[in-house]
Amino acid sequence: MAISSSHFDKQGKAKNPYRSELEARQAAAATFAINGVDLDSYKCPECHAWHNGRRFADS
Ligand SMILES: [Zn+2]
Repeated sequence: MAISSSHFDKQGKAKNPYRSELEARQAAAATFAINGVDLDSYKCPECHAWHNGRRFADS
């Protein structure tokens, strides 16, 4: 079963949707400030919202 890694996280849950790139980047900046995790913001091809994901995913 192919799960879109751009729309779902590793647990298979849908990622948080953001309405704009700015909103996603602000959330990513907050995550970096709190957790030190550097995230990329990208537009999801499935739901056309913005998500944040790991810069180097699941290697
Ligand atoms: Zn999506």
